[in-house]
Amino acid sequence: MERWSRRKFFLASLLSSLAAGAGKVFGSSPPVDAAGGAPSIPIASAQGTRPIIISSANGLHALDKGMEVLKKGGDTLDAAIAAVTVVEDDPNDDSVGYGGLPNEEGEVELDASVMHGPTHRAGAVGGVRRIKNVARLAQTVMQKTNHVMMVGEGAHRFAVDEGFEDMSLLTEHSRKIWLAWKAASSVNWRPGIDSPEWREHVAAIFGGDKEKIAYAERVIAHPPTGTIPCMALNEKGDISATTTTSGLAWKIPGRVGDSPIIGAGCFVDNEVGAAGSTGKGEENIKICGGHTIIEMMRRGKSPEEACLEALARIARNYNNDKKKLATFHIFFYALNKDGVHGAASLWRNHYEEPQHSVYAVHDGTEARLAECKPFFDEINAHG
Ligand code: ASP
Repeated sequence: MERWSRRKFFLASLLSSLAAGAGKVFGSSPPVDAAGGAPSIPIASAQGTRPIIISSANGLHALDKGMEVLKKGGDTLDAAIAAVTVVEDDPNDDSVGYGGLPNEEGEVELDASVMHGPTHRAGAVGGVRRIKNVARLAQTVMQKTNHVMMVGEGAHRFAVDEGFEDMSLLTEHSRKIWLAWKAASSVNWRPGIDSPEWREHVAAIFGGDKEKIAYAERVIAHPPTGTIPCMALNEKGDISATTTTSGLAWKIPGRVGDSPIIGAGCFVDNEVGAAGSTGKGEENIKICGGHTIIEMMRRGKSPEEACLEALARIARNYNNDKKKLATFHIFFYALNKDGVHGAASLWRNHYEEPQHSVYAVHDGTEARLAECKPFFDEINAHG
């Protein structure tokens, strides 16, 4: 099967895990299936293990790379970066790195951050064009400069000086979806009224492939976000994290989300743990989600409870008005120093998929999916 969209990626991952046996997927509560059809999933033990590496679900097939580094006694930040680099390099994941959906001008702009627990250091880059491995670039800012954050043109020049490849990040897939978005948003980017229907024009962009047209229609109507946060803990209890993303599709050039913001999209305290996020970054920035989660864990909350507390603050910002909150989706992920992990999602599902939201965990044996705890136990058809 050609896996060209993030949506397909999620479905394929989840279904193959379920097919391979319920023991490969675990969570804190069994899935609720309104239609009565979903397989039930066993409850996990809340005990931690070390070494361990976790990420958003789109990292499921990349965590092996990070675990390899941890098992060889490598650095925890190198482990997290090894995992997310697989996703940044993957043209089929349109939410991160190469092949990420572009801004409104058709340019892919990437954001990333890193935190290295053992040395209490951080690095970040925002709005970077034409450089695919921005997690490693954020690490290079941390290692080779006296700065924490670099953005735009300056970050790009720094990357080229440091030997990163300068390349177009658009794939045929992301370029075509961008063209379809342009045709849907501006009369200047579709044929005039004396020409064939503009919908036919959009269909022609995808050579009539119905699945691709339907996916394009969805991401045009609901501009998607997408990211990979990844947290790695070694046997002796050192912990590091990274978050890397192409951000919000069709954004205004220069828009930066939460992913490169230390304390929002990524935060680590080597004495406590690490946290990351995906979803609407603007909501996370307003509550400093990563930092909030670490402080909650410091006071004794479990990773899952701490993630739910961050979501409660976001919901509070809208007086818990579900109509307003249904206009977006957001997820938090956390790992504590003992190797206990947890995640929570504002809504039960991920985008249009009715299953529970999931995240990826590798505790040394194999990578598997775990459930996010929903803050609202309802499906969000829009976020
Ligand atoms: N949080 C990212 C941002 O707002 C996008 C995402 O995670 O989906 O840029």
